[in-house]
Amino acid sequence: MAEVELSGVTKTYPGDIRAVDNISLTILDREFIVLVGPSGCGKSTTLRMIAGLEDITAGTIRIGDRVVNGVAPKDRDIAMVFQNYALYPHMTVYKNMAFGLLLRCRYGAFNNPLAFVLSHGRWKKARAERREIDRRVHEAAGILGIEDLLHRRPKALSGGQRQRVAVGRAIVRQPKAFLFDEPLSNLDAKLRIGMRAELKRLHRQVQTTTVYVTHDQEEAMTLGDRVVVMKDGNIHQTGTPYDVYERPANRFVAGFVGTPPMNFFEGRLVRDGDVLLFDEGDHRLAVSPVHHERLAAFVGQPITLGVRPEALSPGGVGVAPANAALNVQVSVVEPLGDRADIYCGTHRHPHIVSRVDGRIRVAEGQPAQLYVDLERAHFFEPGENGRNISSPAAP
Ligand code: ADP
Repeated sequence: MAEVELSGVTKTYPGDIRAVDNISLTILDREFIVLVGPSGCGKSTTLRMIAGLEDITAGTIRIGDRVVNGVAPKDRDIAMVFQNYALYPHMTVYKNMAFGLLLRCRYGAFNNPLAFVLSHGRWKKARAERREIDRRVHEAAGILGIEDLLHRRPKALSGGQRQRVAVGRAIVRQPKAFLFDEPLSNLDAKLRIGMRAELKRLHRQVQTTTVYVTHDQEEAMTLGDRVVVMKDGNIHQTGTPYDVYERPANRFVAGFVGTPPMNFFEGRLVRDGDVLLFDEGDHRLAVSPVHHERLAAFVGQPITLGVRPEALSPGGVGVAPANAALNVQVSVVEPLGDRADIYCGTHRHPHIVSRVDGRIRVAEGQPAQLYVDLERAHFFEPGENGRNISSPAAP
């Protein structure tokens, strides 16, 4: 177990493709950290640089107390689990799990067959090593519930079982850190949710520092002690799942985290006596007093209002206060059992989604009024990466 630290790490591929741009990040000992972001944001490159599978163009990477920039992958004491599992098809599950350790044996026949045959002392030490490997394989198999599968070959396993074997192979190594590269993306949706819970339980048990890459924000939120949200080779926010959801650093993070995504309204901040209003063009919404102090400096300026789908709810016409309601046209209602998503729009903002209790009835193709919970609203500076003004991220 160890801390992993990236300082000013940059990766430039030929053709001046800057895949990772001067990122710094400290992954604490025993922490489970998830790198998440849209495809091409540089998360796999970051993971591969930690693993030593990509050279670093600039910066340093430290694992434990050792800078590993020039250290070969096999000497970094990390274990990586890949998306395609990379199991050896001709070996049993047992062999797949034990193989990496057998290769590393100091006294076994693998390293020096002649000395092994000739020296009795060496043979005894090799036996002790084999016993230790056997113990570790059975222990890992026990943790993962795959003891019954140890004699099977990968082709006789389901996707979920193969995934467990790949994880088991990483566990037996007892590395300083686990690196996971989209390990669940080949599994069907139900199995993915099951394996997600299993990985979390596993981490509680073995407590190895873990860096996990996914493009799936829901996976990131459920697994990570902290989540690192990346875009265009940069880190936009590092925080707990609660932080990135409730206090997104900017509009990009706010829109990336959460399903359905946050609704954004372009408008202007105006003052009417003591009241601050967000002017959407056709609607004026009263800014909650909780936001007055931070927003006062933006009066008269363009600003973006962000409202999560669950902070928008239908009220009967005339029920919601006029300065907290949007008059929308409902296009589609998607029932999801316990909840429903209402797709609707205003004249200026045609793509709005509201998530409501599944028992609420809203007619498609009809006008409706949506009440905006303005205490839960976010305000951003204009632009796709506009900074969150109303609830800045924790330092
Ligand atoms: P992610 O894992 O977030 O989808 P990657 O780290 O794989 O993103 O890639 C980041 C950027 O670097 C992308 O623009 C990608 O096209 C580019 N890239 C990745 N690998 C190479 C490579 N071997 N050669 C050139 N460009 C690459």
